[in-house]
Amino acid sequence: MSETFILNGKETPFTPGQMILEAARNGGVDIPTMCYLKGAAPTGACRICCVEVKGARSLMAACSTPVASGMEVFTDTELVHRSRKMIVEFMLSSGRHNCLLCEANGNCKLQDLAYFYKITKLQFTEKDEKDIYPTEDQNPFIVRDFSRCILCGRCVQACNEVMVNRAITQGYRGAESKIVTGGDSPYNESECVFCGHCVEVCPVGALTEKKAKGLGRPWEVQKIRTTCPYCGVGCQQWLHVKDGKIVKVTGVEEAEPNQGRLCVKGRFAYDFIYSEDRLKTPLIRKEDGEFREASWDEALDLVASRFKEIIQKDGPDALAGVSCARSLNEDSYQMQKLFRAVIGTNNIDHCART
Ligand code: SF4
Ligand code: SF4
Ligand code: SF4
Repeated sequence: MSETFILNGKETPFTPGQMILEAARNGGVDIPTMCYLKGAAPTGACRICCVEVKGARSLMAACSTPVASGMEVFTDTELVHRSRKMIVEFMLSSGRHNCLLCEANGNCKLQDLAYFYKITKLQFTEKDEKDIYPTEDQNPFIVRDFSRCILCGRCVQACNEVMVNRAITQGYRGAESKIVTGGDSPYNESECVFCGHCVEVCPVGALTEKKAKGLGRPWEVQKIRTTCPYCGVGCQQWLHVKDGKIVKVTGVEEAEPNQGRLCVKGRFAYDFIYSEDRLKTPLIRKEDGEFREASWDEALDLVASRFKEIIQKDGPDALAGVSCARSLNEDSYQMQKLFRAVIGTNNIDHCART
């Protein structure tokens, strides 16, 4: 029998070692959080997930407090909401939050909480413009807007613990804190490989995709799930499509095999499909060396007839197949089947080995 704790007066099961946040979610109670990142060590950095625990001297961060048997937890009290509202106000005043001009408008946890708590006016003085680090966008993919960063640390954990690229960290101290690359250099001169996972996990508009800027609000785009075309891993992606055109690509969070992760190609290199130079039909080389367009039937018939000629003249081992690393596993399987069973040779390889 699993152990239980009391969540808002209701006996709720939990797994030993589980934090309050996860156990509450499993019990159907969603506790808001800005910094919690599944799969990374809980930091309790944002304090938005604070809850009351009977007998505790102060509010506890639900993401980093383990549940104990019989523990009494309250997520919906006046004290909890007063604290959360104040933290949201602190966050809003720690920078410049003009939602209308922000790429994250409509997809921002801070905006959602500010709306939930009906915050229309800040009781704290906003950070002075001159004390805000300038926006960094000297690279082709990512915009880091420090005026919207709430220093939740999710991007750092995503980079270090999830992607294990170790390109960014928390830099400086106190009011001068900022997320930095090694040596605080621009991203294109750092260890960053532009996987974009930091952008994916940023809960606000501090990290955004440069190429997507101004192309579509979250409520204007249609999200279409697909498999990344670049390699055989089969990462699951969302194509954000507006007026028939891809404006952004993100990972599908709960899906295998990538669980929201993508590489630089999968996330950012989608423009090739709109390239004027893209080949759309097979090309057959003429005797004079020039190419001419052909139908698939014509091209495949030509390949098959040339294969037959070679086999007749020099035997099946005169042929070799190299399967493409961008193909699905199933296609690579069929390729070796074609070569071994139909053509009759074991000369089959895969270009990922080259
Ligand atoms: S980060 Fe969120 S709260 Fe801040 S301006 Fe952007 S949408 Fe608004
Ligand atoms: S950039 Fe985004 S994810 Fe990183 S610390 Fe700032 S708000 Fe958090
Ligand atoms: S793009 Fe990837 S490697 Fe670069 S900082 Fe973000 S998570 Fe790290």
